[in-house]
Amino acid sequence: MPNNDCLFCQIVAGEIPSNKIYETDNVIAFLDINPVNPGHTLVVPKKHSENMLDADDAVLQEMIVVTKKVSQAILENFTEYNAFNLELNNGQIAGQVIPHLHWHIIPRTEDDGLKHWPGKSYQGDEARIVQEKLKNALK
Ligand code: 5GP
Ligand code: ZN
Repeated sequence: MPNNDCLFCQIVAGEIPSNKIYETDNVIAFLDINPVNPGHTLVVPKKHSENMLDADDAVLQEMIVVTKKVSQAILENFTEYNAFNLELNNGQIAGQVIPHLHWHIIPRTEDDGLKHWPGKSYQGDEARIVQEKLKNALK
């Protein structure tokens, strides 16, 4: 069901204009309105889901295949790029502003200013404890 208050549902429905570049039965790709670099694209399921965890696996699979295809087209047609980041902000604290699942495809240049996350270190046997907990959860 489309969510009437959802910006991306309105884009999917064509009620709000977007620079659409590609679509399949279940997925559309359009340019981000405030790109890190030109060609920055959002890959969006047509069916509303808030984030990755409430989306259908089949739709997630279709999204990643579309993401690959669009990423290839960006790199092949804009020679200033030979790298890109995929980003999926899952949840508000993770930077998700629009609560409708989307991959960002962010083509990169050396001096575009986009920063990677800072890394911490595991202390003592913390990594092993975390590993065990997750391994058990995933059995
Ligand atoms: P988020 O922070 O939720 O991962 O990313 C949302 C993205 O949607 C942002 O990069 C923002 O620039 C983009 N965005 C917000 N409003 C619009 C809009 O009306 N049209 C398009 N094409 N992109 C939008
Ligand atoms: Zn939506």
